[in-house]
Amino acid sequence: FVLPDFQEFTGELAAIFERCRANTEGRVANCIPQLARADPARWGAAVCTVPFCLQSVSKPLNYALAMTEAGSDRVHQFVGYEPSGISFNSIALNSENKPHNPMINSGAIAVCSLLARGQRLADRFDYVLRQYLRMSAGERLGFSNSTFLSERESSDRNYAIGYYMRENGCFPPDTDLRETLDFYLQLCALEATCDSAAVIAATLANGGVCPLTGDPVLSAEAVRDTLSLMHSCGLYDYSGQFAFKCGLPAKSGVSGAILLVIPGLMGIALWSPPLDRQGNSCRGIQFCRELVARFSLHNFDST
Ligand code: GLU
Repeated sequence: FVLPDFQEFTGELAAIFERCRANTEGRVANCIPQLARADPARWGAAVCTVPFCLQSVSKPLNYALAMTEAGSDRVHQFVGYEPSGISFNSIALNSENKPHNPMINSGAIAVCSLLARGQRLADRFDYVLRQYLRMSAGERLGFSNSTFLSERESSDRNYAIGYYMRENGCFPPDTDLRETLDFYLQLCALEATCDSAAVIAATLANGGVCPLTGDPVLSAEAVRDTLSLMHSCGLYDYSGQFAFKCGLPAKSGVSGAILLVIPGLMGIALWSPPLDRQGNSCRGIQFCRELVARFSLHNFDST
């Protein structure tokens, strides 16, 4: 890497910043009176790092949107509520021939088939992006087309899941499977920063109302159901242990992102690409564990 450890790097930046403060050379512009009044001691700098893609962190957001838009009965006609007990990308359905829950690939693909249904794919994509932007108070979100294209090329498993689901009648009639899979993969390739993802998590913590704008993006019922499923199914095959040890709703993705919700209090976004054996960010999980050890934030803490 060109840069040392990030903290060391930001420490160095702060030191350079302070050294530059001592520089008293130069004069303020005098050609514009407004600028001539500027305080020569002012000195600012800001750093903005690159975004990361949401991957499976998009799943609870899409589910909450579909629940807000179509209601629980309609959505759960096509997807269950139970942890699957098997890998997130398994080709498997529950005993009612539905995906086990919306936090795994099959369930998320089913949810994508419902989102803004009946519109053209381009309009459906724009609609979802607009809703994500409302959740993030307009903070930075983007789309990585290269991630989408490269993932589509290596998505045999998701195609297999989709065809298996179609064979088992898992979609509403007249679902275009290829389009649905494209939509699913495009939403996985949406990008956020820790700042924008934290605002999204805070919207979930706040009953679906963005705390920075007061915009009621999601219905309170949809958010309650989303948090319930994040709590039981949000962290791949670590979900049960996470619910036990941390007792908070969260959702991770293969990009190393974790969205952590402390209901009624705050949203936290964590991101670090190295993953543990279950596919969760190592640093992210440690952060959650230490947070709950230090503060009584576990759902069932009584103190
Ligand atoms: N786009 C990934 C997939 O469909 C999501 C994986 C993940 O973040 O869990 O496999």
